[in-house]
Amino acid sequence: MSDVIQLLPDHVANQIAAGEVVQRPASVIKELLENAIDAQASVIQVVIKDAGKTQIQVVDNGLGMSLTDARMAFERHATSKIKAAEDLFSLKTKGFRGEALASIAAIAHVELKTKNEEGEIGTCIKIEGSEVISQDACVCKQGTSVSVKNLFYNIPARRNFLKSDAVETRHIIDEFQRVALAHPQINFSLFHNGSELFQLPETNLRQRITNIFGGKTNEKLVPVNEDTEIVEISGFVSKPEFAKKSRGEQFFFVNNRFIKSPYLNHAISAAFEGLLKERTYPGYFLYLNVDPKSIDINIHPTKTEIKFDDEHSLYAILRSAVKHSLGQFNVAPVLDFDRDSSLDTPYDYKDKGPEVPKVEVDKNFNPFKNEGGSSGGSGRQTHYSKKAPAASWESLYSGIKDQEFSGGNQLEQIEVESEEVSGSLFDKKEEEEKSTFQLQKKYIVSTLKSGILVIDQHRAHTRILYEEMLKNITISAAVSQQLLFPLKLQFSSNEIVMLKELKDSLEQTGFVFSALEKDFIEISGIPTLITESEVEILLEQLLSDFENEVPDNGFSQTDLMAKSLARSMAVKSGTILNNIEQQHIVNRLFACKEPSVNPSNKSVFVTLTVDELDKKFM
Ligand code: ADP
Ligand code: MG
Repeated sequence: MSDVIQLLPDHVANQIAAGEVVQRPASVIKELLENAIDAQASVIQVVIKDAGKTQIQVVDNGLGMSLTDARMAFERHATSKIKAAEDLFSLKTKGFRGEALASIAAIAHVELKTKNEEGEIGTCIKIEGSEVISQDACVCKQGTSVSVKNLFYNIPARRNFLKSDAVETRHIIDEFQRVALAHPQINFSLFHNGSELFQLPETNLRQRITNIFGGKTNEKLVPVNEDTEIVEISGFVSKPEFAKKSRGEQFFFVNNRFIKSPYLNHAISAAFEGLLKERTYPGYFLYLNVDPKSIDINIHPTKTEIKFDDEHSLYAILRSAVKHSLGQFNVAPVLDFDRDSSLDTPYDYKDKGPEVPKVEVDKNFNPFKNEGGSSGGSGRQTHYSKKAPAASWESLYSGIKDQEFSGGNQLEQIEVESEEVSGSLFDKKEEEEKSTFQLQKKYIVSTLKSGILVIDQHRAHTRILYEEMLKNITISAAVSQQLLFPLKLQFSSNEIVMLKELKDSLEQTGFVFSALEKDFIEISGIPTLITESEVEILLEQLLSDFENEVPDNGFSQTDLMAKSLARSMAVKSGTILNNIEQQHIVNRLFACKEPSVNPSNKSVFVTLTVDELDKKFM
């Protein structure tokens, strides 16, 4: 048979890529705004017609492009922002994939006008469905203007999928506000069908928030500032008495990029605990600065989630920073009566009796022994023996026979109060067989016959839970635990619609809904695998995953749900695991159908064989 594989022509590849990058007009706005910011613009203007369906135009006064760059910008993987793979770990720009302009030009009529500082005259390029229609010289100021008309003109299915103008405009405003909040030092404006929606002058953060959310906002804001080694936090939370019935004004930015994180959101709720009226949510505008190396840069262009190296510590720092601010600004009782749960008896040990503490004696300790002594082992001994007199102590016992008292080893036979050296209060027998250990609170390291195995704890646990969930949803209904009091949670009407769609599958995993009303739900039973306090994060994460997922990319609802739940429920990196927990994960991982990758196809573990090690020592 003749060969059948061919490379896809560029315009087809671009159209496929566009499906990922451009979901709706708001995605185009986000990409164009980010390009303008990357080009160091100080004034950015957005003009839209019919919720962006007819036209979107973004004009900036940034660096602009040369004639050649203007043409190159529309090639796929054409970017000025990174040159080598290493650059990915020190990323300071919003873009880096070089995909946005190519994707947008594949599914719309695009006109680009641009001029850089050196250029005497500007360039104007027209592209329709990846095809360059014209490239001419034109008169324009320094900067760039991109106009995108008739979005999805060549993909009717996608065009039909767009929601009403009101809904699409809402999405655009959301994107616009997120970018504007991340960059108060840039002047932004937004016009829709000829009328001005926002005019935001260059200012500071407090004023930017006030300009967007209205004059009264200023007095509601409490500053939050915290500098630690792993994160710098700045921004504001709203005073508890101004908490809202909806979650609208909640913003996290990481390195100036808007993100959604139900997990970190929970940290804020925890900080506000006891200060809020029932079914209200605090507003917050929090800016986290972290080392770009400590986050996963491979953020999907349309997604707003991010993976941190140490989410667990971040949670704790954020919670205490917010709590501290609320206390300091007298909006919360200053005294904190919260118990420190790390001082509580671990659950597993609750019913075990304490053991009599033992006196710790180092049997090998010999204060008279020289450094080179044979009774080796403890560092303490070496330390003391350095100070021991240089003269041989044996000479003091010259009358005693050599074999009776010839060296340090003999001392071991002297009875000491306790044979076992143990300082632990609890019986730790189960933990004795240590074949695993934890590295950096992130990896589980285990030995194999042929080498060592390093497992990413979060990914491994996600894989385990994912397979379990899939089984529960598709085959057997899971068991659920009845809640003593039904849990009432507030959601927006959009979210309720989504929850209704997911209700059946959620019930298969163990959720029991006692009410699904217009703006709240009531849950009377939850899966046994989770605790009541996790329910809200879990559902929020689920909704945000469904909101983010491109609707026609072939993933079934069940699969997405299993993925989302597994990911939220899995142990986070940064969590300390005891030996039993580590081994539990290892054993269950290798009982999975596909232990080597997590549900998003990323590696769960790596191995290092003795052969490979040997090579390193050559
Ligand atoms: P990315 O932003 O990932 O690099 P894009 O497709 O969005 O990819 O843009 C491709 C390139 O075009 C950018 O790397 C940049 O060099 C140039 N570019 C795009 N928009 C602008 C702009 N508004 N001003 C100056 N240069 C731009
Ligand atoms: Mg870009």
